Amino acid sequence: TQKFVSGLSKTSSSLVGAVGSVLNRSKIDEEMYEELEDILIGADVGVNTTLEIVDRLRREVKERKVKEPAELQPILSEILADLLRGEDGQQGMNIQAEGLTVILFVGVNGVGKTTTIGKLANKYKREGKKVILAAGDTFRAGAIEQLEVWGERVGVDVIRHQAGSDPAAVVFDGIQAARARGADILLCDTAGRLQNKVNLMEELKKVHRVVKREIPDAPHETLLVLDATTGQNALQQAKIFSEAVDVSGIVLTKLDGTAKGGIVIAIRHELGLPVKWVGLGEKVDDLQEFDPDQYIHALFQ
Ligand code: GDP
Repeated sequence: TQKFVSGLSKTSSSLVGAVGSVLNRSKIDEEMYEELEDILIGADVGVNTTLEIVDRLRREVKERKVKEPAELQPILSEILADLLRGEDGQQGMNIQAEGLTVILFVGVNGVGKTTTIGKLANKYKREGKKVILAAGDTFRAGAIEQLEVWGERVGVDVIRHQAGSDPAAVVFDGIQAARARGADILLCDTAGRLQNKVNLMEELKKVHRVVKREIPDAPHETLLVLDATTGQNALQQAKIFSEAVDVSGIVLTKLDGTAKGGIVIAIRHELGLPVKWVGLGEKVDDLQEFDPDQYIHALFQ
């Protein structure tokens, strides 16, 4: 929890400071709502989501006959928590109690896919699970070697082919190796070059098909990795990837490097996808399972 709070400190200090000044106003009026809108949009909550939040706040103020701005904070927290939990309430990871769990990671270059895979491999290994990595980003120079460095650091096997080879073949081999070695979890990296979007999306679909042919209810998770510091761009990427593959959740990296952590709310609300993990730094332990209530708490502590 402490790590979560400090990782979010840039967001919380700017957002809370700003929201605080709104809540310190002398009365609830149009100007106050407008200021709140500006603050939320500035924190990357997104225009649509911001308008919805402020609309709901107006309704609650009316219904509950709230008079003082100081009374607004718990109401605002409630609204944000509600948006973050989403309609399906789905949040945790789909890890098989028995047999192999296959997790695909997709996302554009540089967002932190490889780092996240390393961090997650470490987490699951510490829980006593046998983890294998598949180096499915055969396109980006150095991606395979970088994954191998993580494999060595964490102490898990990495299945790799040569640079430029077919990612679906790597993932296929990953599944065979995982079965042969009795692994519990296979984490698969994939390419993230957006320069050739059509090819990339076809490649991801093929990886998906190959996994499904081997294990009908897999991949058990397809996690889209997004960089929180890219703001509304991240939403755009999410739309592109969601069209190609069935994304089951989001990993939001570099939340430590931005004061605009409101992007979490926009992602959940505008994409309907749960944020499952957040990256709060470059080190192996800097990955946290995302908990909506903890996030709100960190924002308004
Ligand atoms: P990939 O191209 O998507 O595989 O991205 P990488 O895993 O190589 O990460 C790109 C850069 O982002 C590296 O310098 C990582 O150390 C850094 N990075 C990844 N996750 C985080 C995070 O949560 N916080 C911070 N501050 N840096 C991160």
